[in-house]
Amino acid sequence: MISKTKFGIYGGQFVPETLMPAIEELTAGYEKYKNDPEFIAELARYLADFAGRPTPLYHAKRLSNAYGVKIYIKREDLVHGGAHKLNNTIGQALLAKYMGKTRIIAETGAGQHGTAVAMAGANLGIPTAIYMGSVDMERQRMNVYRMQLLGAEVVPVESGSKTLKDAINETLRDWVATVGNTYYIIGSVVGPYPYPVIVRDFQTVVGNEAKEQIMRAEGRLPDSIVACAGGGSNAIGVFYPFIDDADVDLFAVEAGGSNLKVTEKTAYHSASLCTGELGSLHGAMSKILQNKYGQILESSSIAAGLDYAGVGPELAYLADIGRITPANVSDDETLDAFFELSRLEGIIPALESAHAVAYVKKAAESGELGDLVVINLSGRGDKDVYSVAKREGL
Ligand SMILES: *Cc1c(COP(=O)(O)O)cnc(C)c1O
Repeated sequence: MISKTKFGIYGGQFVPETLMPAIEELTAGYEKYKNDPEFIAELARYLADFAGRPTPLYHAKRLSNAYGVKIYIKREDLVHGGAHKLNNTIGQALLAKYMGKTRIIAETGAGQHGTAVAMAGANLGIPTAIYMGSVDMERQRMNVYRMQLLGAEVVPVESGSKTLKDAINETLRDWVATVGNTYYIIGSVVGPYPYPVIVRDFQTVVGNEAKEQIMRAEGRLPDSIVACAGGGSNAIGVFYPFIDDADVDLFAVEAGGSNLKVTEKTAYHSASLCTGELGSLHGAMSKILQNKYGQILESSSIAAGLDYAGVGPELAYLADIGRITPANVSDDETLDAFFELSRLEGIIPALESAHAVAYVKKAAESGELGDLVVINLSGRGDKDVYSVAKREGL
């Protein structure tokens, strides 16, 4: 049974009472505008002219030859900013405008979501503040500068471990105090309801396009769709229009990291769908990486965008009912795929997206994926070239 705020036992609104008015106002605002023809038309214009949609569905011939299945790549790497993230941030920024909000806030870890929020804020002319742990700011100086170039204020967070979770706390504190004029943009299908639904809906454009494009190219639906999953927004975005097509298998590929080991405090991976247990994180119930006392483990991955101890509640639910198949690949398998796609197709993938490619390589042989496969390439790899080169000892 799916209740209003939940997907089976997952999701919900596990937030302090002080946050409820803000969340109720957001729910009402989204319900009001999601079917508003003016809102829909304006969003479509932004997606076309600013974000660069529709993105191509590209037949990767040399990769198909190498892996022995016919592969199409959904080119979210070509979205403005270099990833699918802008589909969501432009949607929420526009929703903020329609709701009469005059200020946007967000939190960021590695800076990818913060940059996509800053782009949307600049384009719509809405003042934007991005909370970021001071340790993360030091590690990601170029992204800090990029957000500043885009006119956003980057607010250093000095509390706790000075990383993402502390930035989330500060953003929530800001939102509670300023909800009258401020909209909080969450970056994936996580957080309390209605965020998992809002972000999913704004990312569903990916799957809607892919469905039309594969029908035009092949005259039939694919046998399988493969996407990487951190919080899970690019995965649910490409999966969602195919949920009722029972013959299309859906694979969510998580970061297997250096191995699937965990210690008291640390997971050497970020595979929460594959190995997590029921718990609450950032306002929702989901599959969470936690120790036996329920404390959240520190996750890890070669790809910053997948490095998260939780996963969207709807994906957790879809995994439980067997509609999606959780999978994972290691950092090393991911690196191999990163090199392979670059050399075979002239496309340098984001390390996040390379997880999906790596899984196709591994699973194609067993026949598990069928003959016709769509890979959602969530982003481009320019941001990762330096760290890969360093890892290779260059
Ligand atoms: C942020 C990011 C991801 C992970 O986010 P999801 O919500 O799981 O999609 C994946 N790929 C790229 C390129 C990203 O920037």
